[in-house]
Formats: sequence, structure tokens, C-alpha cells
Amino acid sequence: MAEVRFNKVRKEYGSTVIVDDVDIVFPDGSLTVLVGPSGCGKSTSLRMLAGLEEISGGEILIDGRVVNGLEPKDRDVAMVFQNYALYPHLSVLENIAFPLRATKSRRADALRRAQEVADSLGLGALTSRKPKDLSGGQQQRVAIGRAIIRQPAVFLFDEPLSNLDAKLRVETRFELMQIQRRLGITAVYVTHDQEEAMTMSDRMVVMRDGRVAQTGRPDEIYARPNSVFVATFVGSPKMNIVRGAISDGAFISPTGSRLAVAQAPARDAVVLGVRPDDLLLTANSGGTARVALIELLGPRAIVHLDAGEDRLTSVVEADRLSELTVGTSVDLAVRPGALHLFDPQTEHRLPEV
Ligand code: ADP
Repeated sequence: MAEVRFNKVRKEYGSTVIVDDVDIVFPDGSLTVLVGPSGCGKSTSLRMLAGLEEISGGEILIDGRVVNGLEPKDRDVAMVFQNYALYPHLSVLENIAFPLRATKSRRADALRRAQEVADSLGLGALTSRKPKDLSGGQQQRVAIGRAIIRQPAVFLFDEPLSNLDAKLRVETRFELMQIQRRLGITAVYVTHDQEEAMTMSDRMVVMRDGRVAQTGRPDEIYARPNSVFVATFVGSPKMNIVRGAISDGAFISPTGSRLAVAQAPARDAVVLGVRPDDLLLTANSGGTARVALIELLGPRAIVHLDAGEDRLTSVVEADRLSELTVGTSVDLAVRPGALHLFDPQTEHRLPEV
């Protein structure tokens, strides 16, 4: 068990800054997800923590100890990668037991512990198989078992589920969360997938261009994104973003959107954000927007709207599709309390008034 801390951590390759003086606290026992678009520096941050990349500046602390100069094996961390990197000639049991050999545990003890770990991961009946005789999900569980067996201070996961198909990914994600909660081991998990980050994490660190864009609980970040970048990165379908002005309870964009925004203060220039779930539609033959396309998801549907030159999306209950069909004219309104406003220059969230 350990808290992990990044103090002004920096990574440069030549003159290129990859990770730019990043401060992050990973609380003891938490599952923190580093998430952001490809190339934003997530893996590099994780690899510096693991000791696989040198740190150009700042300090990384595990349980209060600066680990900058320590070899990976001396940091008490275990890492699970996207490619499982199992030993093909060893059985499931021997693969899981492998890290204990390195610590010179007695072989019988090591194999007994490995059997316990295999049982806890639902691999108990497969322990004599070789990796090639397992499914992708089972192989990844073996890799997780190999990380668990040493009871490290910190687990590191680098996109561990991205080679699995969609169904297995969801199942394995759930198992991984349960294992982490049960063991209470601090975990740092890297993914580019915001949905994975939202569903798994206790804390989310959203990164952009080598910096931390926002840190918080997933529900907090979803409810109050601090910038247009975070607002559109987190949530699916994406938040609608339109530039315009607010007066007399209406938002109007020069590109043709008109949205009722009850109680919003007047502003000459603002960036408005509204999540598709919060964009309310009322069929009205004189409405300023038009239904352009409908995607049925099952109980709900995504409605794509043309509002002048703006393309907006709304999510509605499927039973409303009898009144909302392609070509229907609609009035738009933002659900009260669900308006996001950003500064047009900085694109930072404006303080609520
Ligand atoms: P992420 O995990 O967020 O996709 P990475 O941490 O892998 O991003 O990479 C961040 C940036 O660092 C990328 O632009 C990548 O091209 C660059 N980078 C990674 N490794 C090296 C390297 N050895 N030399 C130069 N640039 C690198």
C-alpha cells in the first residue's frame, strides 16, 4: 500500500517536451486513470513511474520515498501491458509463479501461491495449459495474476484491455476493478478511452499535450469540466459546443443556433456547452432547428440536428420518435441547471453566477 506522487515531473526528448512539469497525487489504495488523446504523454508518465524511462526533471515518490534513481525491480511496482508478454513455454501456473522465482521463494510455496491467485482469477481449471491454448481475456488474466502474486505496492496498467474484443473488454475491466478493490493496492491505469476511464476510476487525470488538464472524480469532471477540451473529451455522444451570445434567456449563434437558456445571464461573447442528454427538443413547425438524422440505440436515440450551419446532437427517449422524424422542425432548450459556459478566448470554464 502506498501513495504515489509526481512533483513537477518532466520528460524531454532532445528539445521536445513530452511531459511538462506535471504534479499528480495518486492516493493510497485508489485506482487512478490517466486518460487523454494519443500522444499526450500518458504512457511516458507511467513508464517513468515504473522506472522504464529516465526522468528529465522533478521527483516521483512512492510511499514517501524518491524513486528517481531506483531500478524498476527496486520500486515495488508491477506492470501489466497491452501485449500480455507471457512465457510461451511455461504453463499458466508457472507464468503466474514466475515473479516469485526471482525472489527465490521455495518452488512449492511459489506454485501454491500461484494456484491461489489462479483460483481467485477464475483460472483454477486452466493452470496446466500453455498461453497459446487460452483466449485473449484469459491470457490477460494470467498477466494480471503475475502482477498480483508479488503483492506490489503499486500496480501499473498500460492500456491492458485494448487487445480484447468489446465484450471481453467490459468483462475483464469489471474483474480488474474487483481485484484492485479487494487487494486495495494503489493502481495507475493508462487508457485513451474516456469511457473506460469514466467507468473504472476512483480518480481521473485528464492529460493534454504533456500537461494535466483536469483531475477529479469522474462524476465531478463530467458535471463540471474546466475547459472546452475536457468537456468534449469526456462523455459520449460529445458535448455540443457553440459560440455566440446570450440575451433575454436565449443563446443565439451567428451560425444559426437558437437555444432557450432560462436564467442564464446576458453575455456578448461566450462558448456554450450542452450535453446531448440536456438538449431538449420540442416539435414546432416554426422551430429554428431541423432533425437531420436519427440513430436508434434501443431505448434511446441520438437525434442529429441542423441549426443553421451548426450540427447539434440530442439524446431522447425512443418513444418520442413518433413525433420527431427526419425533417421535423424543433425548438431547442437547455435543461435548467445543465448549461456549461466557457470563455471564448481561453476556453476555460466561466465561474457560475
Ligand atoms: P500516450 O501514451 O499519451 O499516447 P506517449 O507517452 O506514448 O503518449 O508519447 C508522448 C509523446 O512522446 C508522443 O508524441 C511520442 O511521439 C513522443 N515519444 C515517445 N517516445 C519517444 C522517444 N523515444 N523519442 C522521441 N519522442 C518520443
